[in-house]
Amino acid sequence: MTKSASGPKQTPLERIIVAQIEEHGPMPLERYFDMCLSHEQFGYYRTRNPLGRAGDFITAPEVSQVFGELIGIWCAAGWQTMNAPDPFHLIELGPGRGTLMADLMRAGDVMPGFCDSVQVHMVETSAVLKQEQERTLRNLNVPVSWHAHLDDIPEGPCLIVANEFFDALPVRQIVRGPGGWYDRAVVLDDGRLVLGAMPEVVADEDVPVWVGEAQDGEIAETSRSRSGYAQKIARRVSQHGGAALIIDYGHVRSATGDTVQAIRKHSPADILEMPGECDLTSHVDFEALEMAARAEGAKVHGPMAQGQFLLRMGLAERIEVLKKRGDARQRIMLSRAAERLAAGAQMGHLFKVLAIAHPELATPAPFGAPEGNRQ
Ligand code: SAH
Repeated sequence: MTKSASGPKQTPLERIIVAQIEEHGPMPLERYFDMCLSHEQFGYYRTRNPLGRAGDFITAPEVSQVFGELIGIWCAAGWQTMNAPDPFHLIELGPGRGTLMADLMRAGDVMPGFCDSVQVHMVETSAVLKQEQERTLRNLNVPVSWHAHLDDIPEGPCLIVANEFFDALPVRQIVRGPGGWYDRAVVLDDGRLVLGAMPEVVADEDVPVWVGEAQDGEIAETSRSRSGYAQKIARRVSQHGGAALIIDYGHVRSATGDTVQAIRKHSPADILEMPGECDLTSHVDFEALEMAARAEGAKVHGPMAQGQFLLRMGLAERIEVLKKRGDARQRIMLSRAAERLAAGAQMGHLFKVLAIAHPELATPAPFGAPEGNRQ
């Protein structure tokens, strides 16, 4: 059991969670995760801009403009492969500060007709980040609209981009115990939050087959909201044409293990510490997303390691072009950014890129390249 280090100073969300547990008993971890991130008033993403040096974490688009530019080239090429539909929807899920979209559109502009046909849709639940995105995209000369959910966007051919969106959707954890699996839960110990388990055994249909013969104490993670989003994406591209690019950190094959973590000010924190004030995330199970997407009739490409994806999209060449324009200090910064995005020891290997596409769409580059995609 993990003790909360919160001590006497409770966050407002912690008071709400404690009151709910006192009234209803143990709170499933999935619900705790969801409340911490998305509580209307005190949820982590509702109250702040978590991104950047002054925030809690830095994402790839914030590391370098090249990341968004290469995604822009991918989108422009994808749009051509789709026979240049006009109009088409360019959808970003969880767009943070709007940096990726701004860089993507600058690169996409190079493709004749792309910007004339595009309708940009941002799916964002945070009012604070929506404001940031509006500022970032102020000068974009294309229609941009905001939505709380993918379902709110009109149908039609589309390209969808999601960077570090899936890891921010809640996961459920089940733990193997006497006679079966139990939902991991947050319970109270002397008024403090600690990890425990729900009293009842999890229904068989909620235990994924890949857990196999698990030992007592082993943990498996599943996520209805992540699979649900993969399904919705797959349904949209299969029915109306298009493709989606999902980039996140995680694993290629479903496997047991506890990957839920809290991050605050760029350092790991206790997941029960300061609810609503820390980012909660977990590894994305790409196999689960693939299964959900295939069930809707979509074709899946990858996952490919982020480093490999970016290098095949021209990362090194683009960095060289920018270096020629920059001074000595900028050249060093560019080399560091490229390293951070693509090196195996940094984001290059842990982060994966998965495409979900219409079943008849030609394999989008760089997934069709001959050397094996699988890491
Ligand atoms: N893609 C951005 C930000 C990643 S942080 C980047 O790479 O920098 C996660 C983003 O997802 C934030 O914008 C957050 O507000 C948003 N988000 C989290 N949960 C969401 C949900 N359920 N629906 C829509 N957006 C959500």
